[in-house]
Amino acid sequence: MFRQLRLRQKPLFTLSSLGAEKILVMAYLAFIFSPMVFALTPPEAALQYLSLSETAERLLKEAQYASVELKFGDTSKTEFVATRSQGDLLPSHWRTVLTLSDQQEPIDQAIDLVHELTHVLGPRVNPYDPSLSLTRYVRIGIEGEGGEGRAIETECKVARELLSQVSAQDVIRLRSRCAPVWGEQTRGPFWYRVLYFVGADIETLGPLLRSLPLRDRAAPLISAAARKPYPLALAEEYLEFTSGLCERLKARQYSGLSQVDQEILRNRCSTSTLSMSLVPSKMPANAITRSVDKRSSGDGTPKAGRVLASRY
Ligand SMILES: [Zn+2]
Repeated sequence: MFRQLRLRQKPLFTLSSLGAEKILVMAYLAFIFSPMVFALTPPEAALQYLSLSETAERLLKEAQYASVELKFGDTSKTEFVATRSQGDLLPSHWRTVLTLSDQQEPIDQAIDLVHELTHVLGPRVNPYDPSLSLTRYVRIGIEGEGGEGRAIETECKVARELLSQVSAQDVIRLRSRCAPVWGEQTRGPFWYRVLYFVGADIETLGPLLRSLPLRDRAAPLISAAARKPYPLALAEEYLEFTSGLCERLKARQYSGLSQVDQEILRNRCSTSTLSMSLVPSKMPANAITRSVDKRSSGDGTPKAGRVLASRY
């Protein structure tokens, strides 16, 4: 089953065709540093853990039909690269690369894989959608089917299924990873709203994301690598790839742009939004940093989009 997942080992972000435009839509990283690619070896130990969980088995089964490249590296993350022909609304090609950290215990590697597969199998956000606003992007990143809330929920569901079947040491690891989440879940189905806690960053984000349930309470769960609450990290990600896209569009003759690109320019490229400076405050001292996340990348072409992503 897993062999289906470890498909190819290729450099990221190669240019596939002239006139193509690429955007790295999201990346989800497990630790701080950029990944190093190693020779692939099946994470048998991790898979053995997952074979004990009904939920994980279901995910792995579904993933057999997904086109995913699997790599090992310092960090766990999922990257989506959307390629479109210039001016089109929809990407003509999506590339998904899942990097799994080989720097941790098999039990954590197993749970990381569950988390990343939730991102992989969830719906994707089209970065070329003229109506993709900053607010919508942040909301989808937290509440969407493939967003952080769902990925964390799924990994901790699997963790719960494993509790009675693994060693005492593994139980400690699972509990330390998921106890904060389980604690929040007892508050109800909208537990993921804690991901909207941004502490002092509400001063920066509040005016930008008015319709989201941001709270000035200290974030109990934040991005380890970005060292900042998720809404801020997501907002930065959006502003970064949108700025790149807008710059490329502005460099061309408006009349020569497709209708889609003209709409993107009108709806998403206003200077007032893109010039927002998001200065993060310091990480709350009591925040629990979990796996993941931050990196930037592009495909090295003149039309390349770049995105910073911050997720679990
Ligand atoms: Zn994630």
